[in-house]
Amino acid sequence: MSEKKKSACPAFGKCGGCSLINKDYKDGVNEKSKALIKLLAPFVKVESFIAMDDPYNYRNKVLSTFGEDGKHNIISGIYEEKSRRIVPMDHCLLENRKADEIIVTIRGLLRSFKIRPYNERNGYGLLKHVLIRVGAATGQIMVVLVLTSPILPSKNNFVKALVKVHPDISTIVINVNERNTSMVLGKRDIPVYGKGFIEDELCGMRFRISPQSFYQVNPVQADILYNKAMEFAGLTGKESVLDAYCGTGTIGLIASRNAKNVIGVELNPEAVKDAVNNARANGVKNASFYCDDATSFIGKMAEEGVKCDVVLMDPPRSGSTEEFLKAVVRMGPEKVVYVSCNPETLARDLKFITKRGYKVSRAVGVEMFPWTNHVESCVLLERVSNRKADSYVKLNVKMEDYYRIKDAEKKTDE
Ligand code: SAH
Repeated sequence: MSEKKKSACPAFGKCGGCSLINKDYKDGVNEKSKALIKLLAPFVKVESFIAMDDPYNYRNKVLSTFGEDGKHNIISGIYEEKSRRIVPMDHCLLENRKADEIIVTIRGLLRSFKIRPYNERNGYGLLKHVLIRVGAATGQIMVVLVLTSPILPSKNNFVKALVKVHPDISTIVINVNERNTSMVLGKRDIPVYGKGFIEDELCGMRFRISPQSFYQVNPVQADILYNKAMEFAGLTGKESVLDAYCGTGTIGLIASRNAKNVIGVELNPEAVKDAVNNARANGVKNASFYCDDATSFIGKMAEEGVKCDVVLMDPPRSGSTEEFLKAVVRMGPEKVVYVSCNPETLARDLKFITKRGYKVSRAVGVEMFPWTNHVESCVLLERVSNRKADSYVKLNVKMEDYYRIKDAEKKTDE
């Protein structure tokens, strides 16, 4: 391993964040590319992996956990891999530099404001974590103080002192997390400075980011990923599009510029609120967003015979569900663009849907998490069979026509 890299991060070997840091960047990329090619080999020839030009300090979302060391010094850093011990850390090769600086400043302010870090063992103390989110294109910065209580002593003076050192902070939010769980954020957000959210720009659109909502952590590469998804979707302006697992609506809103209409569905209510606001802020009138489980929502769509030409889907690491994919098959969109952050669940889902009238036509890996072993990819599926029976019924096709279609389908299947 290069000595330079080793000394660049005192947490190396403890944190487990960047498992590929001991390799040349190119070799790490090759490793990920090969893993993707292997998993997708049964379906498609994967295109060249899109690496990142400057793969450092890309994370626009930075979390630091606060605690005390054996001598009661306040420390901040990350949990040791597979344990709850805090590895003190001031700078990380992956994280936004400004965010790291703000965390160090906060740590320095705590004693004079008599703010104690939370102690997991005895349950005393106030400050659990600091979460910083940065709008890479706008420069806006959000500081989230995760506290065990909504009351921060000398709140106004603390805010004043922090903003004095970092005048570029746009907003500060208290998040209340009273419970002793591994979840970082509690449900309640109280803005104490600024608007309580920040904005960023992607693919020429503006997006609102709240403390709780999902937003890609590497915006430079997210731009590339979303453009790839749009290229795969090949929208012409006439399509009805479903954006499933839509988060704050990013992919769907970008698609809305070249689609007839877009429906987005997302489980997290805060993200849905952001999506609705994002549509408004960008003057988008042909997109609507729903808060629901994607599987149950698409099931209802398929049942009601809602027409859909393109499904864009970007599920979490656990992938999608068989029920979701069955509903896609019933709706029969021409194209499905699947954005995945876990190639294993992607391959599992592809195996399921390619047995049901879809083929994989394109696939590409996009580097979203340099130096880590996470692999993001985007896949285009196209419909090869004509199985749209259920939607024919609901679209008021006469029953005799429906049976004719069914018979024709049977013949093509045989
Ligand atoms: N497409 C968005 C978000 C992708 S991350 C973007 O690129 O920004 C995956 C999203 O799926 C998260 O926002 C998560 O809240 C949401 N999610 C997880 N399980 C879900 C489910 N069962 N139904 C709908 N959305 C879900």
